[in-house]
Amino acid sequence: MNFGGADISTILIDRWGRTFPRPIWSRYSQMAKEQGFDRLYLLLSFDCDTPEDAQAAAVLDEKLKRLGIRRSYAVPGTMLEANPDIYRAIFSRGAEFLNHGYLPHTQLQEGVYRSTTFYAKMDPQEVIKDVENGHRTVQSVIGKKPAGFRAPHFGRVPLALQRDVIRPVLKDLGEYFSTQTMPIESVKHGPVWWDHHWPEFPMTGQSRAPYSLLDSYSFLQSPAVRKVTSQYGAILRQTIQNLMDWNVRGLLNIYADPSHVENDTGFMEAMKMISDHGIPSLTYAQALEIDVPDTVTE
Ligand SMILES: [Zn+2]
Repeated sequence: MNFGGADISTILIDRWGRTFPRPIWSRYSQMAKEQGFDRLYLLLSFDCDTPEDAQAAAVLDEKLKRLGIRRSYAVPGTMLEANPDIYRAIFSRGAEFLNHGYLPHTQLQEGVYRSTTFYAKMDPQEVIKDVENGHRTVQSVIGKKPAGFRAPHFGRVPLALQRDVIRPVLKDLGEYFSTQTMPIESVKHGPVWWDHHWPEFPMTGQSRAPYSLLDSYSFLQSPAVRKVTSQYGAILRQTIQNLMDWNVRGLLNIYADPSHVENDTGFMEAMKMISDHGIPSLTYAQALEIDVPDTVTE
């Protein structure tokens, strides 16, 4: 997944977050309390855009299940159709599947994956078709309707497009949440952002950089070597430790691409930490059950 270059205000906000992480997290924790969160939960999702992700997901999912960690998957329809047995097996182990659109999100060009399918550049009718086809493909391949949605390259989908084009389609399809915004929204709104009565789960940032995404893509060794550096696992472990030490409530809502972290010892150590410390994990649908209804918070 690719978020492109950051502008100057993003850089300044990020620097602010790195200067004052503790007050930002304590405010986040207060909002989480008001939303009904009694403690910290892990909400781990995987973005599976390539055939390598399918193979890696098959292995990782079993390991995580053994650690008692719940998993959510965002897989484009084309990738579900290409690897139905792998994803059906993952579903049968209890994982949650999101609607992640239908068209491929990346294409291999001269040995390097390049991102494709940007909703902001597509005609609204094409976006609607892709959302509908993604929903239908989860249902036909997995056998269960997805309850929520994540757009391709989600940080790049303008809010107006989410609100005016995508959400009405999701509601028609019977979906009832999305998770496609950056950590800045979790700093502003808490673990769940009730936007015009629609629950959106922003990603969680890093403990010492609350505005910075904690995803595997940002820590890749290079565009050609799609494995995380050791820094990724170190920051993930630090974030888990800090949030525990600071008694932060809410959701550690993070995602990774399975092939980026499959052989990373730092990632598995972080997951073992979650398990050893008894931090419960949730799917998105489960997290909504913890949350109080928005009529109470508004
Ligand atoms: Zn994707």
